Amino acid sequence: MIKMKNNPLALYIHIPYCLEKCPYCDFHSIATQKKEIPEEEYASLLIAQLIHEVERLDLRDRSLISIFFGGGTPSLMSPKFFDAVINEVMGHFNSDADLEITVETNPATATFENFKQWQSLGINRVSFGAQSFNDILLKKLGRNHSSAQAKEAIQEALDAGFTNVSCDLIFGIEGQSFKDLENDLETTMSFEIPHISAYQLTVESGTPLASWVQSGKFHLPQEEVLAQMHHQVAAKFENHGWHRYEISNYAKKGFECRHNLQYWRYKDYLGIGSGAVSFMNGKRWRTTRKLSEYLKRDWFYEDEETINEKTAQKERWMMSLRLAEGVLMTKQEKEKWKPMLLQWEKEGWIIDLDNRMALTDKGFLFCSRITQNVFALIDEM
Ligand code: SF4
Repeated sequence: MIKMKNNPLALYIHIPYCLEKCPYCDFHSIATQKKEIPEEEYASLLIAQLIHEVERLDLRDRSLISIFFGGGTPSLMSPKFFDAVINEVMGHFNSDADLEITVETNPATATFENFKQWQSLGINRVSFGAQSFNDILLKKLGRNHSSAQAKEAIQEALDAGFTNVSCDLIFGIEGQSFKDLENDLETTMSFEIPHISAYQLTVESGTPLASWVQSGKFHLPQEEVLAQMHHQVAAKFENHGWHRYEISNYAKKGFECRHNLQYWRYKDYLGIGSGAVSFMNGKRWRTTRKLSEYLKRDWFYEDEETINEKTAQKERWMMSLRLAEGVLMTKQEKEKWKPMLLQWEKEGWIIDLDNRMALTDKGFLFCSRITQNVFALIDEM
């Protein structure tokens, strides 16, 4: 294995607990009452896995750009939990001066006191899963918090002194009008937070939502409505000073999520915790999703794969096409794909940034079609 000490690493820490399971969600999490979460045990397991992975993958003193507590609902964990885990992490890596530490936060679980304590632990970014500020739509999504709770939680994080705050929105919900969406966008912007993610509701197979859609219990908006909503979101944020640095992510300059950029730029990350995915040195694997196995400290990995050159080329394109900075093209790609690139340029889908190719706002609407075409081109190479 090639040792790349200077190649920065992102660390993802998965918390597989939620108070309730949202019907559209296929993330690895189980509904658990707060008092039943084995917090201390889980912290000690994360620490044990971290020590194990640092040894196994020779990661000691590697430079670390981010720690991301994702889930599940990390905000269910106490400050004591974060303190123990963050302290351990710091002892193994060289942390970057701008180390970003994010906690994904469900508005139903946030308190001003917690935000204050998080800050003293070095946590410097809070990412809220607000999804909507409309109580009817929140109900449709099966969220366990109200619009008022989400507003209050965001304000409390700001009052506690957080400057790097993000808010997730979902659009394309049954019954959502353009006016409803406009209200959600306006409300989000009113907090003047520097980062917003806005995702179209996707139907993941195996979820209750998938069966509701199939049985006609839940109706998704028409394609044209969704396309218009995409445009509405992008136009609103871009006209008000948030730049679209990724297809679904908007930020004020300097507040782009460093952790997620590492994924989209196809760079290394280590995932610890049950169900966490890692990607390093051309390999990808996932720590077991079976909590019972994880709790036995078996460090059992699922879906292990060595990524061959062609797959790596496809994955790199698929991830980087989502970014406004675009994809760095090889000389061969640029030469061989010239007719297709010229065609896309004519359609107004891409812009040529010298050695990079980037999608325009119009191109983002055709991102999956363009990605499929790129895959076909790669297969022909
Ligand atoms: S709170 Fe988040 S992770 Fe938990 S079930 Fe809902 S969407 Fe999934």
